[in-house]
Amino acid sequence: STFAEIDLGQILNENIRRCKYVKPTPVQRHAIPISLSGRDLMACAQTGSGKTAAFCFPIIAGIMRSSPPGRPRGGRKAFPLALILSPTRELSSQIHDEAKKFSFQTGIRVVVTYGGAPVHNQLRDLERGVEILVATPGRLVDLLERGRISLSAIRYLALDEADRMLDMGFEPQMRKIVEQMDMPPAGQRQTMLFSATFPREIQRLASDFLGNYIFLAV
Ligand code: AMP
Repeated sequence: STFAEIDLGQILNENIRRCKYVKPTPVQRHAIPISLSGRDLMACAQTGSGKTAAFCFPIIAGIMRSSPPGRPRGGRKAFPLALILSPTRELSSQIHDEAKKFSFQTGIRVVVTYGGAPVHNQLRDLERGVEILVATPGRLVDLLERGRISLSAIRYLALDEADRMLDMGFEPQMRKIVEQMDMPPAGQRQTMLFSATFPREIQRLASDFLGNYIFLAV
């Protein structure tokens, strides 16, 4: 099978071609249709499996489909539509680079915020407006507490390397973040959890964060 056979929309399909992706990897072949159908997903995926595209494509396709009319241009408080949480600055930065390539010419703005770097530039990027936010848990909680980000508009949540986030002690931050998405007037959210391992703690996280989900092991 090829990407052209999956209904991802014309612009995204062109961007995929530009990235020279022809054949979906196993996790992409299974995860993308599940996510496009609107179901929550818990997927077993290692580094190098193509998981970044597996969660980015449905997010971008979903945002394009419902092309939000009258999105605010920007402002002091950012209202992203999608959140991708990842454990480290390096991984967040990689996801940001890929998500930007996939979003080329869609009008979707991708912003990354992580700790260990000055907050000034990240605040400036947020103020210009953001549809997809890539973030590490600690810095995101900081920005939420400063009142610079609202998660009330989030429709897509992707947790990347969830087991590593737990190993790094981010569970309290992750819970604080997801709690804000569940507060009114937040609407329905679709959640994708990616993890290399499935210990009991990850299963508990999945049952707390995900709706009736599909489990995918490839
Ligand atoms: P990831 O597991 O998301 O870190 O992806 C691993 C590497 O595979 C990255 O360099 C991607 O750009 C590349 N990649 C992901 N999906 C595909 C695909 N379907 N075809 C070719 N390369 C891919």
